[in-house]
Amino acid sequence: NVREAGGDNILSLSEAAHKKLNRKSIIEKRLLMALDQHNLKVLYQPQVDLKTGQIYAVEALVRWDDEEIGVVSPDELIPIAEETGLINDIGSFVIEEACQQAAKWKKQGLELKVGINLSVREFRDKNMAKFILDTLTKTGCPAHLIQIEITEKFALEAEAETSIIQQMRKLEEEGITFVLDDFGTGYASFRYMQLLPINTLKIDQTFVHSLTQSEKTQRLIKGIVHFGKSMNLTVLAEGVETNEQKELLEQYECDAIQGFLISKPVTADNIPQLLSS
Ligand code: C2E
Ligand code: MG
Ligand code: MG
Ligand code: MG
Repeated sequence: NVREAGGDNILSLSEAAHKKLNRKSIIEKRLLMALDQHNLKVLYQPQVDLKTGQIYAVEALVRWDDEEIGVVSPDELIPIAEETGLINDIGSFVIEEACQQAAKWKKQGLELKVGINLSVREFRDKNMAKFILDTLTKTGCPAHLIQIEITEKFALEAEAETSIIQQMRKLEEEGITFVLDDFGTGYASFRYMQLLPINTLKIDQTFVHSLTQSEKTQRLIKGIVHFGKSMNLTVLAEGVETNEQKELLEQYECDAIQGFLISKPVTADNIPQLLSS
């Protein structure tokens, strides 16, 4: 039970709501410690060029296995981190890790693009572009090896926020590329395709998962691939789990795929052996 602000009424939260609130404050507390003690990790999931069959990029995905509360998935972690502002610290950590790793692979002779997921809130920080560019310098990572994944929700909000657009353009000028993530699930607006420096469309996995059962989805994906090509964009499909899905995507001339069929997200050390297999 919680007391309503300023009143004497006792608001009785449902047990479920109470548990949720509780969980949130525990996560917040543990996350602060985890950031402090460097207990977050980054895994990398390959993206394959369907023409060459080669891995050309990997996506950095944050992982957190807390010693007290166990694994907290990004789908639970990121929204809470956004609410509390801790997303900026997660972002700084992932950006540094990803740039360091891309630079390290390059030294080993592996030219791999590394994708970083950034949320709206992170780009509201006026110093975001500068932080990314400084991190490139610090780690010796060339700009063209970094691609930033943003969601449609982000893009829509960015339309109203010129400073975000300016920051993205600045990064683009330096050679960083942008991926529109979860494409097809947000508030699609063709206007932001003109406004924002998008290089790749990533078809959301919900479409890919229903691909083989639904003729409508097949037409939809074909349409997205055509649209992407006419806009000079790379089209990538995420969540590819079966050969059947892969073959259809090949038929539609989709450019690239990512998903469990290729590999689950793995530690950086496991990437080189995937490249040679
Ligand atoms: P996303 O960027 O769309 O990432 C794809 C998600 O799908 C990842 O989940 C990945 O592990 C999962 N996935 C990949 N291939 C398959 C597949 O074949 N089948 C299925 N069923 N799933 C697949 P994950 O790592 O749990 O991340 C969830 C979301 O959390 C991400 O969606 C992204 O929006 C967000 N996220 C992850 N890491 C970060 C981060 O460092 N910063 C921010 N801001 N967001 C992050
Ligand atoms: Mg992503
Ligand atoms: Mg996605
Ligand atoms: Mg997603």
